[in-house]
Amino acid sequence: MAGRLRGVVALVTGGGSGIGRAVCSRLCRDGARVAVADRDTAGAEDTLGTLWGHEGHQQPSSVVPSLNAAFDVDVASATSVTRLLRRVQEHFGSPPRVAVCCAGVTRDDFLLRMDEGTFQEVLAVNLQGTFLVTQAVARALVAAGTGGSIVHVGSIVAKVGNVGQTNYAASKAGVEGLTRSCAKELSRFGIRCNAVLPGFIVTPMSQKVPPKVLAKFAGLVPMGRLGDPEEVADVCAFLASGDSAYITGASVEVTGGLFM
Ligand code: NAP
Repeated sequence: MAGRLRGVVALVTGGGSGIGRAVCSRLCRDGARVAVADRDTAGAEDTLGTLWGHEGHQQPSSVVPSLNAAFDVDVASATSVTRLLRRVQEHFGSPPRVAVCCAGVTRDDFLLRMDEGTFQEVLAVNLQGTFLVTQAVARALVAAGTGGSIVHVGSIVAKVGNVGQTNYAASKAGVEGLTRSCAKELSRFGIRCNAVLPGFIVTPMSQKVPPKVLAKFAGLVPMGRLGDPEEVADVCAFLASGDSAYITGASVEVTGGLFM
């Protein structure tokens, strides 16, 4: 198996859809053995099915062992995340040296109407979920002494805000602070932590936005179009790999120039 992540175990949360699915595919093409984790178990299994056929990743059989695996997880639950890390280590024989935190939700509403539960739900998945996964992976990597790379998927909305997304923008701004603090704490263990800030990317999540609003944003993008999940995945894979060996605590915008 060739590639800059040859044989590396990589955990991708939110791997059952959109950007997470594209990240699984990209890391797999770079030679990683991928743990596809999602609360949408059918989505995670579908992603897993797309990974066979990449170089060295043959369809498993009685003679060909499985190089990748799908896991169910609720990233907002510490118990579920602890169980995920245990199962990943059992399956692959080592902790993930790469983790890409893509699991996320939107629950849009105007500030004046938003109830506390809607605010908290988004914080619980996007921010607390990223914290829980990062902490569990970092603990396992420190114990193993291998170093590693953790990538958080934030959002450009963290920097500029967005109408109807006070909960989402706050959660993603929190993710950026988390990323930089983790980078400072974990550098001495050889663990890097970086964030990717996508703009508007064509996925099931962005399909919930009214077409009129999406068209308006597309018109604001200097590159003149929305992004593809693969274009975010390429940057995640760069940050996961040794090609970014001297980068930590960074936020990389993948926006087609939106809001620069
Ligand atoms: P997506 O297609 O909806 O994929 C997100 C995946 O995360 C879904 O499979 C979802 O499952 C899963 N998930 C949600 N809550 C979870 C939980 N508690 N535990 C485990 N898995 C959970 O969205 P996407 O567009 O690919 O977004 C991926 C990441 O990019 C998110 O963090 C998002 O905020 C960020 N992002 C997206 C855009 C964009 O324009 N698409 C822009 C900026 C940032 P369910 O379907 O069951 O919820």
